[in-house]
Amino acid sequence: MKALVFNGPRDIRYESYKDPELGSDNAAILKVTKCSICGSDLHIFHGEQVMTTRYSEGVEKFCVGHEFIGEVVEIGRDVHGFKVGDKVLSSAGTGCGKCMACRTGRPLECPTARAFGLDAERNGGQAEFVNIPNADQTLLHLPEGVSDEQAVLLTDAMATAYFGARNADIKASNTVAVVGLGPIGLIAVELALLLGASRVFAIDPVASRRARAAALGAEVLPAGPETVAEIFEKTQGRGVQSVIEASGAKAAIETALKLVAGGGTLSIIGVPQPDVGLQVMPIFYRNLTVRSGNAPVPFLWREVIPLVQQGRLKAADLFTHTLPLSQGADAYRIFDSRQDDVVKVMIEVG
Ligand SMILES: [Zn+2]
Ligand SMILES: [Zn+2]
Repeated sequence: MKALVFNGPRDIRYESYKDPELGSDNAAILKVTKCSICGSDLHIFHGEQVMTTRYSEGVEKFCVGHEFIGEVVEIGRDVHGFKVGDKVLSSAGTGCGKCMACRTGRPLECPTARAFGLDAERNGGQAEFVNIPNADQTLLHLPEGVSDEQAVLLTDAMATAYFGARNADIKASNTVAVVGLGPIGLIAVELALLLGASRVFAIDPVASRRARAAALGAEVLPAGPETVAEIFEKTQGRGVQSVIEASGAKAAIETALKLVAGGGTLSIIGVPQPDVGLQVMPIFYRNLTVRSGNAPVPFLWREVIPLVQQGRLKAADLFTHTLPLSQGADAYRIFDSRQDDVVKVMIEVG
């Protein structure tokens, strides 16, 4: 098959890769139809670290990508919820499906849990075909009333944004800040308003992304040395009750922590790099709650999908670019350079 294959830092190529095999009775093989590139894929692209793997060091070739939808073409005999020909979306990651963590809504605490497309042990779906372990828990039939674009966003971005908003303790009439306005941050802005926030401050260095947040109804600010002071001025010195950090960058996390009002909550959903530290003293003296973690995607679908089907959560127009799989290397370059006001790139596979 053809796939986008990690050959080294800044070297993701469209090339041939061995076809996936079923390998287990609870697995399925998917023919991918559409997939997208995530901000966290850029950490791999840059040769940075994700989980325990440093991509600057010699890593065996693997297919990248954890956001994909497609059609079931092969199915293990222990998979009961799906059949060949079903059109599905996949969770960005999965566990074994059997352990206590998997069965109680914490699949990412499973000892075998991991995202797709991090290494050759679990190849990703920026490819013509992908193996889906634990298929009954990892896949979902394409829901009615959900566009392909929204389905691709449900594999990760929408669920992660929802997890971030829920973790931020947003209540009606709260003030909220979202730091980092990539696709997940923009969806978080939409969700914060949907959950009844009275004011949403949205912060990003990129003007076109701020304009998108402003169109959703946020008060926007550039990321800079003045940002924290400005928001304290706008909130009569109190700060913000619920802050969602959606970038993972060191400076953004530091800004986010400074913005939280006493007794408030910081929710970190950006994938952090190893150099990110978090100061405990302000958390202690200002009685802050800090939550972070990977979203348990399949367990959030039942809450997020109705919002999409009812038209309350739109996540509209986030895909600014569409390219075929054969131009995947260009797709990475465009997404990485942030050229042409790119927000998210859709890759058409077949
Ligand atoms: Zn993702
Ligand atoms: Zn498990």
